[in-house]
Amino acid sequence: MKMPKKVSTTNNNQEALGQAPLLNPNRCQFETSDGRRCRMLRHNGHPTLCLFHARDEMQLLESNPSASVPRSPPPSPASS
Ligand SMILES: [Zn+2]
Repeated sequence: MKMPKKVSTTNNNQEALGQAPLLNPNRCQFETSDGRRCRMLRHNGHPTLCLFHARDEMQLLESNPSASVPRSPPPSPASS
């Protein structure tokens, strides 16, 4: 039984550090509940978030000063 082994010799030094997720300081660090990260560019006025998520966070903090809400509740159906 043969196991073809693919070894790329390029960027070997970089690969050694490849374990940790790439954290780009110029990108939004917002992470969704399914572990996906926002791909927007980081907003200048916020250390870690893009404009969109920065505003999102601000609104959350403003409307809820003791905001320790990990996720927003599902929208209640309109009762008409
Ligand atoms: Zn974002």
